[in-house]
Amino acid sequence: MTHSYDAPVSQTLFDRAAVVTPGGVNSPVRAFRAVGGTPRFMVSGTGPYLTDADGREYVDLVCSWGPMILGHSHPQVIDAVQAAVARGLSFGTPGAGEVELAEEIVDRIEPVEQVRLVSSGTEATMSAIRLARGFTGRPKVIKFAGCYHGHVDALLAAAGSGVATFGLPDTPGVTGAQAGDTIVLPYNDIEAVRAAFAAHEGQIACVITEASPGNMGVVPPLPGFNQGLKDLCSANGALYISDEVMTGFRVSKAGWYGIDGVRPDLMTFGKVMGGGFPAAAFGGRADVMAHLAPAGPVYQAGTLSGNPIATAAGVTQLRLLDDAAYEKVDAVSAELRGLVSEALTKEGVAHRVQVAGNMFSVFFSDEDVTDYDKAKAQESFRFTPFFHSMLSQGVYLPPSAFESWFVSTAHDERAVERIAAALPAAARAAAEATA
Ligand SMILES: *Cc1c(COP(=O)(O)O)cnc(C)c1O
Repeated sequence: MTHSYDAPVSQTLFDRAAVVTPGGVNSPVRAFRAVGGTPRFMVSGTGPYLTDADGREYVDLVCSWGPMILGHSHPQVIDAVQAAVARGLSFGTPGAGEVELAEEIVDRIEPVEQVRLVSSGTEATMSAIRLARGFTGRPKVIKFAGCYHGHVDALLAAAGSGVATFGLPDTPGVTGAQAGDTIVLPYNDIEAVRAAFAAHEGQIACVITEASPGNMGVVPPLPGFNQGLKDLCSANGALYISDEVMTGFRVSKAGWYGIDGVRPDLMTFGKVMGGGFPAAAFGGRADVMAHLAPAGPVYQAGTLSGNPIATAAGVTQLRLLDDAAYEKVDAVSAELRGLVSEALTKEGVAHRVQVAGNMFSVFFSDEDVTDYDKAKAQESFRFTPFFHSMLSQGVYLPPSAFESWFVSTAHDERAVERIAAALPAAARAAAEATA
């Protein structure tokens, strides 16, 4: 267990933060509530490493929750950002960077014929749902328990990760009316989806799903599940929305679509596409996107949408992400998965290392995790000592048992060796943990 004396400068910052910011953080999982101890206030990042305010260096397995797929402070991304900054920060007009980023996305992801840039994944899913309702003229939305689509009111029902971490079944502040048109179904249960379409005939605007969920830990779709969703949507006049905010441009050049090939009507993106800046997008079928203002009647806007610094970072990062880059990330991911599993097996700890492309997470469970109930049933009490052992040895894991781990092209042999060296003690701590 860590104590404040492990990280006195971070603790001082956290104390100050708690005075002026609720819970001391600007996004809940950063507060370490699930694992306890002092959140590390980071001051710099280079390659696979982060340095905290106390001057300690960590191998980073969070990568800003996915975006930093080239590692921190990639020189070409930094150069592009500095050049963009020198030209001005925001114009409130169209700019070339937006066109370049949109073209990059459309070129990579065949079902995306048109795309609208926004500033966060939350905005992307919120807008995609509004568009789906506007396009179909129908009210209801199907989502899955454990899938997180940002903090959109209507989608904050059984929403995984941050919410799962805190065990909140729902959140105050979302009214019955706001959530009333949301149908929450168990993940990977196609029969439940079929039944919902039958029960709400002509009412369902869309099904939204994480392309491969990473917000209840990594729980990939069973073979045929996404195709089944797509087919049910097509048969019932609803739109299939694939949320690739996490998987997009991370698990392959074309995200999860590049892996399973199931063609969505609309898709949402964020994280990697912003290169570390607030940039996100939704896009898809041109006939659906044509309903968006100013081309069509469905309103959507953003003062800083397509910001020139964010688009410069995003375009540069995407252009650097060639086949070789993905091969490298996939290889590091595979190596780490092997090391983690080996260490836990050696200590006799029941676990599953689940994988989606290069995203992976560890469940302290003796059965495959295919939905949110099974994710919650894991022995998450083992994660806390595991996490703190890794942290104290200079490895920064996501501070929750319900999050994906992320690696980058910058995770080299030295970084992997440091993780490998930390794993045996962490596995022992997990083995010795008691509920
Ligand atoms: C992170 C995430 C979001 C929300 O994106 P923000 O930029 O945090 O608003 C939405 N959907 C998925 C699948 C995500 O992983």
